Amino acid sequence: MPTELAIWLPDLFFVLLGAIIGSFLNVCIARIPAGKSVVLPNSRCPNCDRAIRPYDNIPVLSYLMLNGRCRFCREPISWQYPVVEALTALSFWTAYAVVGLQWKVVVLVTFFSAMIVLIFIDLNHRILPDVITKPGIVAGLAFSFVAPVEDGTARFLSSVMGFPITDSTVLSCLDSLIGALVCGGFLWAVAEMYYRIRHVEGLGFGDVKLMGMVGAFLGVRLALLTIMLGSFIGAVIGLAYIKLAGKDSQYELPFGSFLGIAAIVAALRGAQMIGQYTNLFQGL
Ligand SMILES: [Zn+2]
Repeated sequence: MPTELAIWLPDLFFVLLGAIIGSFLNVCIARIPAGKSVVLPNSRCPNCDRAIRPYDNIPVLSYLMLNGRCRFCREPISWQYPVVEALTALSFWTAYAVVGLQWKVVVLVTFFSAMIVLIFIDLNHRILPDVITKPGIVAGLAFSFVAPVEDGTARFLSSVMGFPITDSTVLSCLDSLIGALVCGGFLWAVAEMYYRIRHVEGLGFGDVKLMGMVGAFLGVRLALLTIMLGSFIGAVIGLAYIKLAGKDSQYELPFGSFLGIAAIVAALRGAQMIGQYTNLFQGL
């Protein structure tokens, strides 16, 4: 085999894996809010209920070949299907490009898959189902044994308190735990305060559990960055949408979707972003 091709094989693997997983994520996005099984039955056209043939179920390509319509009833297929498949493929490939072949890549693709499902479910229904966020917190804590969280907060706190911890696995687990408690707790306090002052739910408790999960996977610094980025994206895109689409100011924005996008960005580029921000002040 020519070496040029061999070099690209892992990239190709992650793109294809992402597209196939993305196809499954579409099933999760459609069925989890309806409380249906994500395993059975096979995919059907939501309009005519005919089973989708395996050759019509190829990620992205089938959508393009069918011109975005069902083979049988010609009803348009949602744009979300190819978009979710393409985004998942892109996120998997980027995860590999950033961390290479380490355990960390498994952690990241698992995290991105969950985030993509939550982003689209919140966009469609304004809910962040517990069946994803709660096991997500547990998964984040469990993965901290396999791949280091490398947040630095546990190391810092333990040395400040006078009993420095050096074991990298213990530090990683503590970073994950601190991330879940601090970020989930922080958003919970914001949600609780908003509710007491305004007497309406401004921030759902789904967002709180989502941030607990982000904290468990990424540690406290990247999760706090996620909250900042998510609020920024929400303010810019959300307010622009309200203005352009002529919605009133009471329109409920999918804040969980913005947090999910921010979490993916923070996982991939957050360390560099925090580094650049710190350098900015060192230069003064
Ligand atoms: Zn159909």
